[in-house]
Amino acid sequence: MDHFQLQNGVLHAENVALPDIAEAVGTPVYIYSRATLQRHARVFRDALSACSDAHLAFAVKANPNLAVLKVLASEGYGADVVSGGEMVRALKAGMRAEDIVFSGVGKTGDEMARALDAKIGQFNIESEEEGAELAAIAAAKGCIAQAALRVNPDVDAGTHGKISTGKAENKFGVPIREAAAIYARLATMEGLNMRGVAMHIGSQLGSLDPLEAAFVRLGALIADIRGNGQSVTHADLGGGLGVPYRPGESPPSPADYGGMVGRITKDWDVRLMFEPGRVIAGNAGVLLTKVIRVKPGAVNPFIIVDAAMNDLARPALYEAYHDFAAVQPDGARFTANIVGPVCETGDTFAMGRETDVMQAGDLAIFRTAGAYGATMASTYNSRDLVPEVLVDGDRYAVVADRIMAGTVMDAERVPEWLLDKDMDGGDA
Ligand SMILES: *Cc1c(COP(=O)(O)O)cnc(C)c1O
Repeated sequence: MDHFQLQNGVLHAENVALPDIAEAVGTPVYIYSRATLQRHARVFRDALSACSDAHLAFAVKANPNLAVLKVLASEGYGADVVSGGEMVRALKAGMRAEDIVFSGVGKTGDEMARALDAKIGQFNIESEEEGAELAAIAAAKGCIAQAALRVNPDVDAGTHGKISTGKAENKFGVPIREAAAIYARLATMEGLNMRGVAMHIGSQLGSLDPLEAAFVRLGALIADIRGNGQSVTHADLGGGLGVPYRPGESPPSPADYGGMVGRITKDWDVRLMFEPGRVIAGNAGVLLTKVIRVKPGAVNPFIIVDAAMNDLARPALYEAYHDFAAVQPDGARFTANIVGPVCETGDTFAMGRETDVMQAGDLAIFRTAGAYGATMASTYNSRDLVPEVLVDGDRYAVVADRIMAGTVMDAERVPEWLLDKDMDGGDA
């Protein structure tokens, strides 16, 4: 359930009418619901209530907006970060350093040093080489990095290839067959406290089966590591739970997930850690857009909206489906192609979609845009960087400004040796 519903024929975010936001902030604009974020954070936590003391770290890459992170921090969430920049955001939003987990396949020495200085709670090490480098940096600083070894369990997550991370050929983690030996070697290194294992097999999972298969392998690995005489006190099960994008779609619920986790891990004797992203933020946001015009097409008309692939990249990147709906629907439906203004055929949100009838000037939303939406936005085609709004009951605030194309251009320079007398002010 989310808080983007019709009230008196007009789509609202909680109690704020979307046309009011369009009027004040302009379009396109991302709109998040605080109530939905909170609800999802609580549903996920409650689903894991059988696992005592589960550690919850929101995957910042899904939605790094400071206001969104602040909502989740106040729900007791820590952060799963994959860069120094995300770590700075999590700290600034008030997440406790000890609740920050640093994931990511290419942590630089500089990022690891900064994370050690910030005293973050855990590094999820992606290779023996990375672990050795982290150990050296920590030892030189005279501190100890708390670390888990990320393993690649070699299961097919059954999701889109570009968001699958747990197959043997993917770049993430160490092969599970070598993991116990690597763990044993890392455990001897000064500067490193190997305390756990971690995995994350992919995103937008539509079935629990691959997760269960991977967790079973992880449980066996924990036993192997302990059999070698090392200790394992933490197991990080990653994120990946899918959300419904299409009407009628029903991916496994947090409750189903929690039940499965409880069953598989009941004898592990570890503190379980989780890194949910999409399941928290996905349905907590929409992208509000305005129809520029409708033009005839060879088969169906094209609805050209003022949002584009640079604002919401998922359809172009992953052939992703986003539900599209008029803000003030009158009940009439037609079949249309929904496209943005960017000069790429990939800038297509949907082909042959049955949708509300729309005309120039109408407002519409793309639903389920709260995760992997604004964070992937760019200024391609010299478009403005899309702003973000957070709604709370009957109030709202702009939580990220629209960054104008001119501001981006102001950061560019033409070197003096390229200037000719006709350029730069035209003082020829
Ligand atoms: C992206 C990512 C997540 C979050 O995935 P969701 O599918 O959004 O839940 C969690 N952990 C790691 C390591 C990730 O890279």
